[in-house]
Order: sequence, then C-alpha cells, then structure tokens
Amino acid sequence: MPNFEDARSIILRNTSPLGTEKVSLLETLGRVLSEDIIAPWDLPLCDNSAMDGFAVLASDCSHTPTDLKVTGYLPAGGSITNSVEPGCAITIMTGAPVPPGCTAVVPVEETEQVNDLVTIRARVNNRQHIRFRGEDIAIGSTVITAGTVIRPAEINMLASLGKTYIPVYRKARVAILSTGDELIEPGETPASGQIINSNALSLAAAVRESGAEPVLLGIALDNLESHRKKMIEGLKCDAMITSAGVSAGDRDFVREVLEELGVKQLFWKVDIKPGGPTAFGIKDNRPVFSLPGNPVSTMVTFELFVKPALLKMMGHQKFIRTFTKGILLEDASKKAGKANFIRVRIEKKDGRYLASSAGEQQTGILRTMVTADGLAMLPLEATLVPAGSEVDLLLMNNVDMVAE
Ligand code: AMP
Ligand code: MG
Repeated sequence: MPNFEDARSIILRNTSPLGTEKVSLLETLGRVLSEDIIAPWDLPLCDNSAMDGFAVLASDCSHTPTDLKVTGYLPAGGSITNSVEPGCAITIMTGAPVPPGCTAVVPVEETEQVNDLVTIRARVNNRQHIRFRGEDIAIGSTVITAGTVIRPAEINMLASLGKTYIPVYRKARVAILSTGDELIEPGETPASGQIINSNALSLAAAVRESGAEPVLLGIALDNLESHRKKMIEGLKCDAMITSAGVSAGDRDFVREVLEELGVKQLFWKVDIKPGGPTAFGIKDNRPVFSLPGNPVSTMVTFELFVKPALLKMMGHQKFIRTFTKGILLEDASKKAGKANFIRVRIEKKDGRYLASSAGEQQTGILRTMVTADGLAMLPLEATLVPAGSEVDLLLMNNVDMVAE
C-alpha cells in the first residue's frame, strides 16, 4: 500500500498537461499561458510625460528661477503641433507625448504661471520626468513566458501589448459520479436511511476552485449496469472522480466496473487516515480518482490527490501545495502505521501558525471539517505528538486575513 507521498507521485507521474486553446483576455484569469508572449511594440510607445507640468529644454533652466514663454498645450491623447524652442515651454499633461526639443518636464508644482509666462522655480535635471520609449518593455522582447499563471498584472500587460486572444492550457473537464442506493439529490427530503448526495456539489465546488470544470453525472445505483452507464459517460471527460463504493462491501461496484471498462488501476488504498480507501487508475491518459464516500474523506483526498493532478493537467508547473510549519497546541495521539490528517483550527500569532484540534476527528463528523482552517499531518509512525510540537499544516482557509 503506498504512503501519502508515494500515492501522490504515482498520480502525478500518470498525469500530463492537456492541450491548449485560445481564449479572450478576461477568461485567462488563473489559467496558465501556453506560449511565450513577445512584445509587438515598445512600452511606452513614445517618449511621454510622467507629470502634469511644462516641457522645457533643461539647458534653459540651469539657473533658476527663470522665465519661459508658454507656446503650446499638450493634453494626454493630444498630438504634437510644435517643438520646444529655446526660452520656451509647452504645457504638458501626464501621458502626453513629449514634443521635439524637450529634454525635461517640470512639474506644475515647481512653477508659477502668469498669462503666457511661466517661472521655473526649482532645479531641473536633464531627462527628468520623461518616460522614454521602450524603457518598460522593448519591442521583440519576451515579456511573459509559457507556464506563467495569469493574474490581473499579466492581464494588464497583455492588454497593454494589444493581446486580446491568449493561448492557454485547456481547462480540465472533470466528471463527478456519486455511487450508492442510499443517495438522493440535494433539494429532496431524505427519509430515514437516505443520504443527500452532498459530495457531488462539494466536489464540483472543489473542482471549480482548482480552475477546472465539473461535469455532474448524478448518482450510480448499487448495481453493475447503473455504474457502467454512468462511467462510460464519465470516461469521455478529461478526468473522473467517483465517490463511495470503493470499500470491500458486497455492494461496492466501483472496482469491478472500472476494471471491466479498461481502467488500469495503479493503487487501491493509501496509508492515510482519513481517506484510506482511495484508488487511482488511468485509461487513455484520463485519470480516474475513486474516493471514499464519507464526505470528510472525500474532501481530504480531493485536496491531497486530485487537486495537484488537475493543476498539472491544466499546465501549472507548481501544482503541489507545500506544508506550512506550525505549532500544535495540544497533545494528539494516533495509531502507528498511517499518516493522519487531523482537522485543525489555525491562528496566526506573532508570525507563527498555531494549530488546535477543530473537535471530533471521526470520519463521520462533518462539523469539524466546517470549523477547520486546515489539516495537520501527524507522521506515519508517530503515536503521540505532544503539545508544542512542530507539525506540517495544510492551510485550507485564508488564515492570514484579519478583520481590521
Ligand atoms: P461507502 O464508501 O459506499 O461505504 O460510503 C461511505 C459513507 O459515505 C456512507 O455513510 C455513505 O452514505 C456516505 N456517502 C456515500 N456517498 C455519499 C455522497 N455522494 N454524499 C454524501 N455522503 C455519501
Ligand atoms: Mg455505498
């Protein structure tokens, strides 16, 4: 049985980036660029003013105060009509192209204007307050490299370079299948013994949060035919996630049907708790994650195993969330032989993450998944992790945010 890291390695060795597509600029947020972006022009496109003020010849202002004759007006977006002659100045706004002759811009705050005469009061340096053509980005240079995750900053740069249709890795379409005769869909009222198919929506949300697109297949009943029908559909997507039906129960059909459909199974169990009965297989390059049905286990195993794989498929070069070091505030005990991921509340104090149990840890307790800010990993062989120990934390909530 693989341990947590080995299982994740098996998964990642068997997943690879999907193809690419071109999408409109705003749709690229969070996506991964699939080609280098080369600047088609200089940024800025021309020498322009960095201030509202006066375009002057710096050499006219070697002794200040000095008076210059105002001979023109250049608003942002305006076009140049005359050059700056010796002894003259042109009123200029931020972003306006500097006129010929201009070797410096004097901010309006350092001047005084009366009619068409402006007095320059402060010292003027050659080239001051001019943004020169290409000083930000030079034409022909590589501005953003393939593999970059697109944030608002990249969107600004791409827009500035006239790029509106951007090559990115494809979003993974991820089929989500719940299994079990006891399940009913959210919105229906459960009779005793029935369970609402909450995993489907929670998995769909997690898939979306990862930047992928969920495809809800609904519920497979506990019989071969129902599993077959849904799984054939699911295997048309880029990846499939099933929940429940992977244990050794005599009504657990996931294993049998996946095998029948030609999914090559790479492991059936992992040495962790919760989430031990997690299986992984592959068919025609499409990963199939069979997660346990318990909502807590489903969510934890998604975070540990599915998310990195989806990120890798969507072109991310960094797809493993590393652990954050924190201090466990209370004793935790466990059996040796399995890594435990316990649900913890996390607080940041004096720059350190402090973790305490979110409450009951049985896999059937959903409540503590809601109150948890993350998971603390208790190592495979440990039996007692005493209060004050440094532990590995997986943050699942933004604990760095504060109210005020
Ligand atoms: P199983 O793996 O089929 O034994 O299911 C384990 C537990 O998870 C049972 O208590 C199920 O009722 C519960 N469960 C299974 N599927 C879902 C689901 N889609 N949503 C919520 N709970 C589920
Ligand atoms: Mg079941």
